[in-house]
Amino acid sequence: MKITSLRTTVVGAPWRELVFLELTTDNDLTGTAEVRMVNKTDTLLACIDELAPRYVVGSDPFDVERLAWNVQRGEYGRAGEVTQSALAAFDVACWDLMGQALGVPVWKLLGGRFRERVPAYANGWYTSKRDPLAIARLAEDVVKRGYRALKLDPFGAASAELSAPERRAAVEIVTAVRQAVGPDVQIMVEMHGRFTPATAAAVAVCLEPCEPEWLEEPVPPENAAALRRVREATRLAIATGERAHTMADIREFIEGGCVDVVQVDLTHFGGFLAMKRLAGWADAYYLLMAPHNVCGPVGTMANLHLAVATSNYKVLEHFNDFADPWVQELVDHPPSVDRADGCFAVPERPGLGLSLKHDVCAAHPRTGARIRLFEAGWERRGAGTGKT
Ligand SMILES: [Mg+2]
Repeated sequence: MKITSLRTTVVGAPWRELVFLELTTDNDLTGTAEVRMVNKTDTLLACIDELAPRYVVGSDPFDVERLAWNVQRGEYGRAGEVTQSALAAFDVACWDLMGQALGVPVWKLLGGRFRERVPAYANGWYTSKRDPLAIARLAEDVVKRGYRALKLDPFGAASAELSAPERRAAVEIVTAVRQAVGPDVQIMVEMHGRFTPATAAAVAVCLEPCEPEWLEEPVPPENAAALRRVREATRLAIATGERAHTMADIREFIEGGCVDVVQVDLTHFGGFLAMKRLAGWADAYYLLMAPHNVCGPVGTMANLHLAVATSNYKVLEHFNDFADPWVQELVDHPPSVDRADGCFAVPERPGLGLSLKHDVCAAHPRTGARIRLFEAGWERRGAGTGKT
């Protein structure tokens, strides 16, 4: 089996653009992958176009070790956010092809059925004004939808510091959500790398009575010593990693004991091959994986296969019941969260188990949208405005 051609498709939504890659083989199989590139869609497309003729077209999709070595080492230049995202797209589409060629779902090739249900947490649901009761009402809707976990960033457009009133406002929002959802629903608090270590530590202590499941990216993502200052100031679990793209990026955080939940993004970290390596390494430190996922249905499905086959996979992030729910219609068999228990079922079709519907994709052309986390109102995710 040889890959003969590739096709990229970009779908626009009010606050994100979704890039889909399809690889076609000489035996007429099509493997699919997805990346939601953070604000650099054109750059990703250019990287895919530049690397594919060298390492993908003409290759056997089973040879993912060679593919990864070529992109990460053979190229000589260091692989970062864009390159590792291009590699992830190639890798995921190759695993989809492997599964189809063998007639088995991808999780069978990644370690088999470790679990029957994959718990999800909701994101993209708090698209109201920053009012504690308004957000609490939306949180109640999330729980009614079946979710047993949800995430929010209650800090508005904050950067570096929080004034006393801003800090109280954020704590009031999380407190209202906790009161609305009860003690057993997990609340993940997202900080988007906004704060100095001192500010993050102070906020963490204020949030402890709300019992959040984790604090996410309290400080910018590059400095393990800065994160350790927060880690040492609170009993709460620390999650980070969505802006790590190689083992080298995340090494110091894991070895240094700075992180409890590793959030590396499958679609920005080189795909399945790299994620299985990372999961095994994280397990040596008894850490759990909760990969960042802002993708539409294809990237979410890739995460689902990884989750089924990975023992230390904690929970799968999911936007697509709340933000841009129409993205589910972009494929024939989208993964969905069961209203009965807030979990995904194990996918059983060969490969990833879905295909793009190009007519639906064509109805949602590019928007040029990007997320602006340091501008007021970003959390509305373009609702009613057409832009974030
Ligand atoms: Mg995050």
